[in-house]
Amino acid sequence: MLSKPISDITPFTLLDYPGKSACIFWYAGCNMRCSYCYNPEIVLGKGRVLFSEAISFLDTRRGLLDAVVLSGGECLIHKNIQEQIKAIKKMGYLIKIDTNGSNPGILSQLLEEGLIDYVALDFKALDDKYEMITKSDLFSPFEQSLQLLLNSKVTFEVRTTCHSDLLASSDLNKMIHYLDSKGYEGNFYIQGFRNDKETLGKLSSSQAINPSELFSLPNIQFVIR
Ligand code: SF4
Repeated sequence: MLSKPISDITPFTLLDYPGKSACIFWYAGCNMRCSYCYNPEIVLGKGRVLFSEAISFLDTRRGLLDAVVLSGGECLIHKNIQEQIKAIKKMGYLIKIDTNGSNPGILSQLLEEGLIDYVALDFKALDDKYEMITKSDLFSPFEQSLQLLLNSKVTFEVRTTCHSDLLASSDLNKMIHYLDSKGYEGNFYIQGFRNDKETLGKLSSSQAINPSELFSLPNIQFVIR
């Protein structure tokens, strides 16, 4: 595993952890290859920051930041992630994880040990389109991660990136019914694809999402970001 696990650090954000000031650690590498991925250099490139350097950075931010967001790439594929999260938590920071949900084993341990405070879970697609979109067969682990979060007390959000060539409004409406069938309640965030960004795969321009084609449910609301 990478001796320099982190590709880059965003030193300050108020946008990523609701109601908290945070920094973002961008973990290098991912076990998926979504063509709409905005972070090809993080997914395909090598890490550039030692974890000890990241800890030194956090040392200088004590009392100034509330939280650390672990994003990527996919942070939970890193072998030492549990120890790293423990070290960050020990410094008094809240922890948010951005994950594609492919590692329920690690997620389960983190939840059991009370090491995470907020999770943003990517819901790429239902089973019929999961492999086409992620170039992986990881729908079943995603389902397990969702169930773990539903069973836990940790605050989490579910979010989907939507490119009109890959997901239609009808897919999103099926996805919200799937979440409802699992007992999820809250917001279902839909992130429209941004045509101005460099991506991992080649995609044509995405059409804007038409909100009138999305049907929220009594316990789950579509929120377009
Ligand atoms: S968008 Fe897909 S490829 Fe990119 S980091 Fe997320 S899961 Fe990995």
